[in-house]
Amino acid sequence: MNSKLMNLDSMAVHGGREDLQALGVHALPIDLSTTNPLPDIELGGDSYESMALGGHPLPAGGSVYARLWNPTVARFEVGLAQLEQAQAAVAFASGMAAMTAAILASTSTATPTAGDTRKRHIVAVRPLYGGTDHLLASVLLGVDVTFCEEGEVAGAVRDNTVLIIVETPANPTLDLVDIRSIVTQGGGVRVLVDNTFATPILQNPISLGAAMSLHSATKYLGGHGDAVGGVIACDEKTAEALRRVRAITGAILHPLGAYLLHRGLATLPIRVRNQQASARRIVTWLANHPAVEKVYFPGSDGDPRSLLQHQMRGQGAMVSISLRGGFEAATRFTSAVRIFTHAVSLGGVDSLVQHPAALTHRPVAPEARPSASLVRLSIGLEGVEDLIADLDQALTAASSTPDSVPVNQSESALL
Ligand SMILES: *Cc1c(COP(=O)(O)O)cnc(C)c1O
Repeated sequence: MNSKLMNLDSMAVHGGREDLQALGVHALPIDLSTTNPLPDIELGGDSYESMALGGHPLPAGGSVYARLWNPTVARFEVGLAQLEQAQAAVAFASGMAAMTAAILASTSTATPTAGDTRKRHIVAVRPLYGGTDHLLASVLLGVDVTFCEEGEVAGAVRDNTVLIIVETPANPTLDLVDIRSIVTQGGGVRVLVDNTFATPILQNPISLGAAMSLHSATKYLGGHGDAVGGVIACDEKTAEALRRVRAITGAILHPLGAYLLHRGLATLPIRVRNQQASARRIVTWLANHPAVEKVYFPGSDGDPRSLLQHQMRGQGAMVSISLRGGFEAATRFTSAVRIFTHAVSLGGVDSLVQHPAALTHRPVAPEARPSASLVRLSIGLEGVEDLIADLDQALTAASSTPDSVPVNQSESALL
């Protein structure tokens, strides 16, 4: 199947399914074998070596062992790579496993000058997902990290910098970062974009010069809140380095997860468009609500650099709001929602609300932590009128102080 001839919707439905006809099946097969019969020692050994170095299994030797290669995972990778307009993709057990592998692969492939024993250096543009911030701020991976703002990247890059990490739209402020500017500022240092919020439907970082586009597949790609996974789209050479780290550290995605995530890709474009349309209506409605101090949505600052136009195909379906009344109001709001679920994560068919400062961004250094009055909404596929009605009653509950609550609303009064 020639992916160049197809639009995103068609690719989402057909990508990674190229071998099914020859197998004589229509739905994606789930291959659960942990080990595979070896044709003989030499062929099996050669294939093992190829995969341990990050290559593909050799046809005559087979895929040997499921930590190295799994056909169900490989099909998901092909499907995602097509959507990202990338040569390849490598799937991991979680988004954080993918981020860890990206960092390890970057430090292991960079060739230091002889005698240079310094730690490798990474530049990270804040704000980032709390888990990513936590990983970088920990000393677990033995790298030096400079956290900076978008405009400070060029000044932060050193001669031992091996990777620049950015997230756009950023979590949870939905700030847009100019990917092309980061690539230019990097002056040849490879750039990783966390593309979880935009999805490949709205943004393709690799076509903007990034080396890697990372997804927490747990979110929009799976879309149903029932599979944890991560995936990185990249060129084939980078994929080799990532697969090598994956094989060595044992971070491969489970085939059941790969099946669910690949199935999720088929409806990704239609989910993203539908959820985005609801998000736009909700943003317009929220903008006039007296309990809301500020609405955060890509482009809501007027998009002075036209980034929506130049690097995205839409705004997505993540919305953050800061509430008048600060943390107390946020507490009442998250307890009052009925159709929205008060839960972390995002990008599923059902709407979620969470408080980043207390939860997803809790490990972030205080000066970089989101405001205590900010709550983040992930807009799902429910009817938008129902979502607005739910937000309306929850915002009313949020703005009522315990004293002003009538006796018959004792549930709110208890807060
Ligand atoms: C959730 C998330 C991650 C981490 O992914 P997991 O699948 O939870 O490990 C990374 N980046 C962003 C933007 C996320 O939302």
